[in-house]
Amino acid sequence: MTEPNLHIGVLGGGALGLSAAYRLARHGVRVTVLEKEDVVGGLAASFPVGNVYLEKFYHHLFRSDRVITALIRELGLGDRLVWRKARTANLINGRIYPMDPLRLLTLPVLPVSDRLRLCLGMAYLKLCSDYHRFEGQLAIDWIQRWMGKRTYEVIWRPLFESKFGEHYTRVAMPWFWSRVYCRSLSLGYLRGGFHQLYVALLERIKALGGTVRTGQTVERIEAAPGGRVRVTVNGAVEEFDRVVCTLPTRLFTRLAVGLPPDYRSRYDWGDYHGAHCVILALDRPLTDVYWLSINDPGFPFLVLVEHGNFMPVEDYGGRWLVYLGNYLPNTDRRFRMTRDELLDWYLPYLARINPAFNRSWVKEAWVFQAPFAQPIVTVDYHAHIPPHETPIPGVFLANMFQVYPQDRGQNYSIELAYRVADLALTRPTAVLAKAG
Ligand SMILES: Cc1cc2nc3c(=O)[nH]c(=O)nc-3n(C[C@H](O)[C@H](O)[C@H](O)COP(=O)(O)OP(=O)(O)OC[C@H]3O[C@@H](n4cnc5c(N)ncnc54)[C@H](O)[C@@H]3O)c2cc1C
Repeated sequence: MTEPNLHIGVLGGGALGLSAAYRLARHGVRVTVLEKEDVVGGLAASFPVGNVYLEKFYHHLFRSDRVITALIRELGLGDRLVWRKARTANLINGRIYPMDPLRLLTLPVLPVSDRLRLCLGMAYLKLCSDYHRFEGQLAIDWIQRWMGKRTYEVIWRPLFESKFGEHYTRVAMPWFWSRVYCRSLSLGYLRGGFHQLYVALLERIKALGGTVRTGQTVERIEAAPGGRVRVTVNGAVEEFDRVVCTLPTRLFTRLAVGLPPDYRSRYDWGDYHGAHCVILALDRPLTDVYWLSINDPGFPFLVLVEHGNFMPVEDYGGRWLVYLGNYLPNTDRRFRMTRDELLDWYLPYLARINPAFNRSWVKEAWVFQAPFAQPIVTVDYHAHIPPHETPIPGVFLANMFQVYPQDRGQNYSIELAYRVADLALTRPTAVLAKAG
């Protein structure tokens, strides 16, 4: 049973924070969400493009994303959820090769024996429902052993290198398993944008008596007398009965006061990359694929996502929206470059993908970046995932960096949100006060 008059602070208004707040509010708890940015949604936040909204970073769902699908329906948005087969391909030696399972068998860049090994390897991962058998193995070792060295060199090494940079040789096999096992051929999208999901959550939280405050930077988290939690926000101090913190672990350990040294050394750990996206609005299509992974060296972006080959361009006033995406260390110069500098660098590469491309096709352009976006899931990663209960009584931690062996995904954030909300509800205040 929920304790009466409980007030829970939720730090961060992304998928996790809003879903946790919604769950808590449904249990009759008074919630206050504190979000640093001016809009909610976190990494899945959107920006206006004409009369509609588009995600700052490309987003879609897989059939295995059941928790978010159920939430979308619960919030009355089920009729906007569409599933489509979207074409995926790789750019290899300047040519676009479709990568759907049947086409793999005819992939000319590999000899027949390697194509077979590639298909068998993928099929095996698709059939394995338990990742534990891959624990302790490196992805690049497994790929080379089972799919072959040539397949690794031509298909996988360029992708691993551009996604994980200097860390690519340390990536864990369970992570690679999740990339194959959990993916579906048809992809889901909330027609009109995932923005609608976050607005719906926001409205439900408010309707249930909760508060969502944007433009609120959390600066300090510490224990207060009586098992309460003190949070410093925009320079002012507030107290809560409990706190659900959805900020990245690295940020939590920086803001939390009084964490024991062994907690810090174990969990303030690991590498991550930021996300960087240039978005173009073109007046015509660039390719006929939705997702184009760039295997060719030297490109300044690692993936090209053509939203117009997934959702109707009429939804966006006829704009062919194209994401040019990267995961990069936060020290990379792209994070400091202006939009026009980035365009000068990137746009000539589009002509390598479609020789007819001309700069006059670009009608609008935007740049978005996020510092904590891509955890680097190495072999020892799982030993450094913090538990939801933290050494500060009443403070519960749940974030994207605890999603394992996946590295992220709205679905997993929502799943984690429900788990941590239930945990926060079941810890009686008396116990927390004693622990304090
Ligand atoms: C390039 C890219 C592509 C992706 N593609 C997909 C996809 O196709 N499908 C999919 O499902 N998922 C995708 N994701 C992942 C998905 O966006 C995330 O898993 C999910 O949005 C994470 O939500 P979260 O609430 O856990 O974290 P976040 O979204 O990071 O939320 C944390 C929140 O905390 C706020 N915050 C940070 N510091 C403070 C502070 N000091 N005080 C207060 N607030 C603070 C942040 O502003 C943010 O709103 C993608 C992510 C990226 C970067």
